[in-house]
Amino acid sequence: MASLIFVTGGVVSSLGKGLSSASLAAILESRGLKVTLVKLDPYLNVDPGTMSPFQHGEVYVTGDGAETDLDLGHYERFVRTRMGQLNNCTTGRIYSNVIAKERRGDYLGATVQVIPHITNEIQDWVRRAAEGYDVTMIEIGGTVGDIESLPFLEAIRQLGVEYGRNAMFMHLTLVPFLRAANEIKTKPTQHSVKELRSIGIQPDVLLCRSEIELSESERAKIALFTNVPIKAVISALDAKNSIYDIPTMLYEQGLDDIVVERLGLEAGPANLDDWREVVDRTINTQHEVTVAMVGKYVEHSDAYKSLTEAVAHGGLRQRIKVNIKRIESEELSNGDLAPLEKVDAILVPGGFGERGFEGKVNAIRHARENGIPYLGICYGLQAAVVEFARNVCGLEGANTTEVDPATPHSVIGLITEWLDASGTVEERSAESELGGTMRLGGQECRLREGSLVRELYGRETIVERHRHRYEFNNRYRDILQKNGMVLSGLSMDETLVEIIEIPAHPWFLACQFHPEFTSSPRDGHPLFTGFIEAALCERRGELPVGVASL
Ligand code: GLN
Repeated sequence: MASLIFVTGGVVSSLGKGLSSASLAAILESRGLKVTLVKLDPYLNVDPGTMSPFQHGEVYVTGDGAETDLDLGHYERFVRTRMGQLNNCTTGRIYSNVIAKERRGDYLGATVQVIPHITNEIQDWVRRAAEGYDVTMIEIGGTVGDIESLPFLEAIRQLGVEYGRNAMFMHLTLVPFLRAANEIKTKPTQHSVKELRSIGIQPDVLLCRSEIELSESERAKIALFTNVPIKAVISALDAKNSIYDIPTMLYEQGLDDIVVERLGLEAGPANLDDWREVVDRTINTQHEVTVAMVGKYVEHSDAYKSLTEAVAHGGLRQRIKVNIKRIESEELSNGDLAPLEKVDAILVPGGFGERGFEGKVNAIRHARENGIPYLGICYGLQAAVVEFARNVCGLEGANTTEVDPATPHSVIGLITEWLDASGTVEERSAESELGGTMRLGGQECRLREGSLVRELYGRETIVERHRHRYEFNNRYRDILQKNGMVLSGLSMDETLVEIIEIPAHPWFLACQFHPEFTSSPRDGHPLFTGFIEAALCERRGELPVGVASL
């Protein structure tokens, strides 16, 4: 029987359940187990695709095109197992499934209720996601005691009974340190476990987040009040240097042994060398660069979670410390580019809507005209195409129809806007429905021989993840190419432009997909590694190696 580990949180939110789950999964994976993770989110959105990254952090996209919670990004950065549609589920999804079944008459006249219908639907979801894995970690969003999470907690309680010795519960709590009293306070943890037990769940492990290490006597006290064995009261300190240190920190407290023993798993010894190497490269850096990230929502750090991780991974190969200078693109709209002074490279990430678009265009012009390395992602490609069309090709007023629907030159537009009437792409209802109307998920792309991108990847075809509605308008391919833009990546059927570059520039590359979703600390990502190394060359006044031969 497959094993399940349920992860709940108490006292306050943002305790790092996602990172702790991912880190434990990383240790178990290194012990030879096949591990996957599931995030259950107690909100009514069917998926996070329609949620503002400003409130909720980034929308993470999986290879199979699911728009998910950003915790799935942590999962993919920590384990080799790939996430997909089954790895994230919300209350909204569960209800919409149950209501669809009710409308179809599947319940044969029964009164449809939270218990058992909603809770059964949740359990079915978890069983499906766990199929084929030795261990599945199931993280419940929110905090124990929230009204919203009750059906999930009831569902996992029942699964706990069904799986018996093959299921366990791990609870994260906050153990605050009161500076004035110079004391650690265990009461909130006691209360939170009491709350959990009142709904029938006895935790097997407590991960106590605290600023300072818990003493033996404090752990004994928590153990006594919560019925958790003392060795399973783990003191989870904040990771000082790097989040990639967490697997090693948990390993040193024996967490993986507790899990392996408790679930009766057959597993080899842990090997965390990869993680130690990542941490060593993060701390012991030899160079430093500053990258300007020109976007929206930059004040909310989680809005670009995968991106900031990917940029940091880009420095690991050459031990480069990467400082990210976050610049609100609106600040550059009036043409004052002072914030871009002294940066070694410029990055324009994905984004939506009109606000700040001109600021992005101005930043890109600055990068292009001054030979500063530029990486554009999604909206950052679209803005680069607009900039090039206006300022190099002389197409006055060129724009994306997302910003200016009446533009005389819609170099970027909805595919239905520029495709011939004979086109094969179905009409999309982008106006009427925003949920689930995007080009989503992993798609194959062919890289042009001799291009910078081909050299960076070292291969002819790649698969990268998309999340956008607008596309490069093929009617402008010729004029942009005549003026020196190279379309270095096309969809396999050659109908969609996926990557552009400017060979006359030392390092100017933009992609329609989101490479940040496939970057990991252990492997990095060719585009980010190339970009950060180009930034280092810029800093030293050298030309980047591997300039395209087109
Ligand atoms: N807003 C653009 C589009 O919908 C870009 C999206 C993005 O950057 N993720 O196509």
